[in-house]
Amino acid sequence: MRETGKTGKRSGGNICVNQKKCGSCRYLSLTYEQQLARKEEFVRKSLGKGLVKRVMPAVGMEDPYHYRNKVTAVFARDRKGNPISGVYEGGTHHVLPVEECLIEDALADEIIGTIRGMLRSFKIWVYDEDTRRGILRYVLVRRGFATGQVMVVLVTASPVFPSRKNFVQALLKEHPQITTVVQNINGRTDSLILGDRQQVLYGKGYIEDVLCGCTFRISPSSFYQINPVQTEKLYTKAIELAHLTGRERVIDAYCGIGTIGLVAASRPESARAGEVLAVELNPDAVRDAAVNAKRNGIGNVRFYQADAGDFMRKMAAQGERADVLFMDPPRGGSTEAFMRSAAKLGPERIVYISCNPETLGRDLKVFRTLGYLAGEVWPVDMFPWTESCEAVCALTRRR
Ligand code: SAH
Repeated sequence: MRETGKTGKRSGGNICVNQKKCGSCRYLSLTYEQQLARKEEFVRKSLGKGLVKRVMPAVGMEDPYHYRNKVTAVFARDRKGNPISGVYEGGTHHVLPVEECLIEDALADEIIGTIRGMLRSFKIWVYDEDTRRGILRYVLVRRGFATGQVMVVLVTASPVFPSRKNFVQALLKEHPQITTVVQNINGRTDSLILGDRQQVLYGKGYIEDVLCGCTFRISPSSFYQINPVQTEKLYTKAIELAHLTGRERVIDAYCGIGTIGLVAASRPESARAGEVLAVELNPDAVRDAAVNAKRNGIGNVRFYQADAGDFMRKMAAQGERADVLFMDPPRGGSTEAFMRSAAKLGPERIVYISCNPETLGRDLKVFRTLGYLAGEVWPVDMFPWTESCEAVCALTRRR
């Protein structure tokens, strides 16, 4: 039955028939220990000499497989007109069929396979990028590993979706683990997966997950770390590096659904944040964050929907102060405007969480000119078998 995307494990490396064309897992021929060493070295090289006190050994996973809690599949048709689903071949718009994957959640892959198999009998045509005809473009599956809740997002080119009720019923019958189904409408021609409009077809329209003892609501478009096992280690290290004592005024910048700030505010009284101000650009994520604060009974966290740079500039202009700053920007890193204003708020410590060691290095140099020196850097392997590496670094104000 399974003809494509075969995967297998063997000691010292892995087999994946899609390895070359997919291009995501570039480290499949290495042992896991070799990967961790490479990532540590990559962080060290990206940061260069003298910028940080020390790069620590990379924190790895015990079982580095099927860690991705979010799987996105592109739908297309093969030469014979049969629906296929998978990923774009590196740098192209050619869809590479994927049935199973070493790093993706196995249930998510199964659900995507079931949907592909249902299309013909429901007469749902796959969207064609050239003619711009057809219905189904992408399927996104997200699973809360701690709660078991599963969200399926069906991304269609227009609101048209014939017999959607029966389709959802049939899907739920095959996979009763699914807790919510959302139709998202994306008529755009760029490469973004989700459009602005959506409607809930089943369930609540979001899932929940538990991280570091807090429960988080996650909407389809909100950012949520894709490897929850490693995220707990990352947040625990980040909060440890902040040395909170229960009195600090804390800023959580680029906060997403509020994870870091809420976890920092929910620690035991003598080791938590006294007050948290959190800022995030995506309005859906900010809405999730506010619900998450209530859901966890945390009253001393306020969320702001704004560009983080603008927010910091305003804070600085108003003469506000902060004791600790957590910052977790996207791959492109932060901005000079953000960092300059951050320094004006005078935090004793800055904890920088980065998914790109290169922009981390660039930003740490800026912080140095502003009087903040980087101490230990902890690489955390959030993306085994791929080249990507996350790292957390604590900076302190020069006296
Ligand atoms: N700290 C969160 C999210 C980190 S991902 C977590 O660990 O889950 C980076 C976040 O920055 C995303 O939620 C993204 O929407 C947000 N973001 C991107 N550009 C931004 C900007 N200019 N201002 C504020 N937030 C931004």
